[in-house]
Amino acid sequence: MTDVGAHLDRLIRDVPDFPEPGVVFKDITPLLADHDAFTTVVQALADVGRDEHGAPVVDKVVGMEARGFILAAPVALALGAGFVPVRKAGKLPGPTHAVSYALEYGEATLEVHQDAFDDGERVLLVDDVLATGGTAAATRELVERCGATVTALAVLMELSFLPGRAAVGDLPLHSLKTV
Ligand code: AMP
Repeated sequence: MTDVGAHLDRLIRDVPDFPEPGVVFKDITPLLADHDAFTTVVQALADVGRDEHGAPVVDKVVGMEARGFILAAPVALALGAGFVPVRKAGKLPGPTHAVSYALEYGEATLEVHQDAFDDGERVLLVDDVLATGGTAAATRELVERCGATVTALAVLMELSFLPGRAAVGDLPLHSLKTV
């Protein structure tokens, strides 16, 4: 199998001015469509949830809507862990916790089911891109409101010209690629 960095370089496509002028969108669909690349990156993300002997050290893996779902679900299976979706407001049917956070223009709200975690569970967050860090910080707060502990954040790509790393504070961050 090819090295994970080579897959990311080759198969994450920059789309200028999407979804709005000035934004370079990181399109992961070519990577998802390549079985070898998808397998390699899922394994690399799952390794974040293992100790130095390769044993899983998380109980649940959280994916943030929507591309986080695609990555976090196979990571959860690889780790023998459960998968929990963190969704945009109004999508989950049961009682939820909600956290709102600022976007460049306006505000977004994320939700999680109140019964998604048992007390003290160890949780790995997985997403495709870390930009401002607002999504990750809000997700961590949601998990902690449920009584669980976020142990790390794993992303395919970190945009280092934005303050994502600072926004996640003391949470260990593992980026497969930094641009
Ligand atoms: P943020 O909350 O600013 O860290 O943004 C992270 C979320 O927005 C992730 O769920 C990403 O999927 C998405 N996102 C932000 N910026 C980009 C980008 N340039 N390309 C693709 N997705 C992005």
